[in-house]
Amino acid sequence: GWLDGYAVLITGGGAGLGRAVTERFLAEGASVTVFGRDKDQLDETVAAAPDPSRIHAVTGDVRDSERLHAAVAETVERFGKLDTLVANAGVWDYQRRLTRLGAEQLDTAFDEIFSINVKGYLLAAEAAWRELVKTRGSIVMTLSNASFYVNGGGPLYTASKHACLGLMRELAYELAPKVRVNGVACGGMNTDLRGPESLALGDRSISASFAKKGPDSAPPLIPLHDSSTDPRDFTGPYVLLAARDQSGPITGHAISVDGGIGVRGFAHAAGGDDL
Ligand code: NAD
Repeated sequence: GWLDGYAVLITGGGAGLGRAVTERFLAEGASVTVFGRDKDQLDETVAAAPDPSRIHAVTGDVRDSERLHAAVAETVERFGKLDTLVANAGVWDYQRRLTRLGAEQLDTAFDEIFSINVKGYLLAAEAAWRELVKTRGSIVMTLSNASFYVNGGGPLYTASKHACLGLMRELAYELAPKVRVNGVACGGMNTDLRGPESLALGDRSISASFAKKGPDSAPPLIPLHDSSTDPRDFTGPYVLLAARDQSGPITGHAISVDGGIGVRGFAHAAGGDDL
């Protein structure tokens, strides 16, 4: 595989996109440490892995630097090094608008969303960079359509994912030439993505909104109307960006995997609907 012998750490590796990336990286020959706050999810991911010697789980919160340092140390202990950090764990704001947020809610939800989505990536990068310098490795961050466009979240999520884009670009500069830093800007995926506890949305899963859509629902307002929402179909760019042989000269770049939001029309989302 493209990642034979790679040692990788994935935050939020126990569910949704992180789990899909974990499974894909294992299939490409990598050894993977999955990090997350839900122990059951991590245990399930480890149990499902075809080769138990190439997977390891570390429980912790991405806001807790000590746990992230432990995850890096255990990866090096088990697999000898760290080639790739996939910074991925995050929460959504369920598109809660400014006009539906009180001042107090804004205050607490801002802190929760920014500390998970933005500080979580920064703390993971801090824990990992020394090992990544040794291997001339790389960081791949999960970004979002909300890193570029409005209405994929409310102000809190959109600002947090724009911040992640800036973080990716700044770290690409600061860690060059030894460590590459890139992003994958995903569109809507049917995962277990949760909301912030501070808005009482910690138990709500984005998967419920996909379940509501019947077969007769209007196609999504993106050029690739029938684009997949299965997180497994979003993993290819992670493999590409992690693999030195495939993307050695790429750094500071985000690959959008969103059904073409950037080439959407005005009256019609797709210009070729009559083809
Ligand atoms: P998910 O909930 O299925 O997976 C996220 C994982 O991160 C879970 O295992 C969760 O337990 C873990 N996690 C959450 N907060 C954590 C914390 N504080 N500490 C440790 N672990 C934590 O959701 P997903 O959709 O796979 O989300 C992965 C990434 O994809 C996020 O950054 C999200 O913003 C991004 N994203 C998702 C979508 C979508 O439509 N689902 C679209 C664009 C971007």
